[in-house]
Amino acid sequence: MAEQYIVGVAGVIAFLLGFVFLVRSWGLSKLKRAASMEFPKENCVNKNGNGEGEGEAVGTTEIIIVGAGVAGAALAYSLGKDGCQVQVIERDLNALNRFAGELLMPGGYLKLIELGLVDCVDEIDAQQILGYTLNKDGKEALISFSLEKFQSHVVGRTFHNGRFVQRLRKKAASLHNVSLEQGTVTSLLEENGIVKGVHYKDKSGQLLTAYAPLTIVCDGCFSNLRRSLCHSKVDIPSYFVGFILTNCKLPKEKYGALILADPSPILFYPISSTEIRCLVDVPSQNLPSVSNGEMAHYLKTLVAPKVLPELYNSFISAVEKKGNIRIMPNKIMAGAPHLTPGAFLIGDAFNMRHAITAGGMTVALSDVVILRDLLRPLHDLSDASAICKYLESFYTLRKVL
Ligand SMILES: Cc1cc2nc3c(=O)[nH]c(=O)nc-3n(C[C@H](O)[C@H](O)[C@H](O)COP(=O)(O)OP(=O)(O)OC[C@H]3O[C@@H](n4cnc5c(N)ncnc54)[C@H](O)[C@@H]3O)c2cc1C
Repeated sequence: MAEQYIVGVAGVIAFLLGFVFLVRSWGLSKLKRAASMEFPKENCVNKNGNGEGEGEAVGTTEIIIVGAGVAGAALAYSLGKDGCQVQVIERDLNALNRFAGELLMPGGYLKLIELGLVDCVDEIDAQQILGYTLNKDGKEALISFSLEKFQSHVVGRTFHNGRFVQRLRKKAASLHNVSLEQGTVTSLLEENGIVKGVHYKDKSGQLLTAYAPLTIVCDGCFSNLRRSLCHSKVDIPSYFVGFILTNCKLPKEKYGALILADPSPILFYPISSTEIRCLVDVPSQNLPSVSNGEMAHYLKTLVAPKVLPELYNSFISAVEKKGNIRIMPNKIMAGAPHLTPGAFLIGDAFNMRHAITAGGMTVALSDVVILRDLLRPLHDLSDASAICKYLESFYTLRKVL
């Protein structure tokens, strides 16, 4: 069973590394600036709160984007660049400290180029990545991305996700027609089956309503809003247990390391010039508790013996470091939309694949390119039903890879 799981995962990895790639095509002070990014005040939305609870955001907003993660921030920039009036509502404008979305495949890097966002991997101590060393039962193989046809800078990138997202947000907020506001969207505003905007709470807790002919929901893997917009059946086959290693080197420079261990894979890649991320895949039915120390015990006794010798000491130190171990579910959800006039879903809110594929950001950026290109020739979004019908082609186009 465990053997089948490993072989299955290895197959999926090999396939998706190819798939993801085939999607068509210093200093500390800078890092601190990137992490504590302030967004231009003039890009904060104008609001007409009535001071009695429910206020209303007014203006000429054409598109509301919910969530400024990888998908939402990249989309806001792209639509803003095309002249669209965009209002982005993001729950937390601070740099998120999370371990999802740290490895951008070369295909995703190509999408950044297409979107004019490639400078977002600059000044964040991002590392270049050319592939993986694959280890199984003491044997090693080198898996490189097929990059022969491209210029030498077209490779994968690894980084702190929060730093990268702040760079995307800053680019979006630099456009005069994009407003980026901190707020939590609580529900979609629906009238006669058409989404007309959103209800949200701003930073001070004031309830507001924003209106636009099109609302694009990009609220990520824990989406609260997708329920009415797609068939949201989520599978969680395993969890990633993540922590950061320091004072060690991977077996090959510019390569991650993937160990196909029993019962499940262990992954290492750099996230800065001094830190290595370790992700241990733990099957869902067997998840030890972090709080009572069972997880640390599991990692030290069952996982550590399979770790490469050059990483072993740092692995143990990282596991023993208080508060270092974190857990995220590896969610899988097919993209099955319920077509709804006035609303659209992209990013993890719409579609998720196992995180070991490291494909989520590439898919999200690829979807941004497709949606931007579809919306580009439209000058009037007011006929929600016609726009909804027109955007159906998105689902066909995103499959032509
Ligand atoms: C453990 C793990 C590791 C991963 N590793 C990789 C990897 O190495 N490479 C890769 O390409 N992908 C990876 N992924 C997948 C990747 O993280 C996602 O595909 C990607 O982040 C999706 O971008 P998104 O914009 O849809 O969502 P997110 O980046 O999650 O952004 C969603 C945004 O919406 C905001 N938001 C949420 N709810 C609301 C609300 N109600 N109102 C307003 N704002 C809201 C959030 O604050 C957030 O900023 C990983 C996933 C996991 C779970």
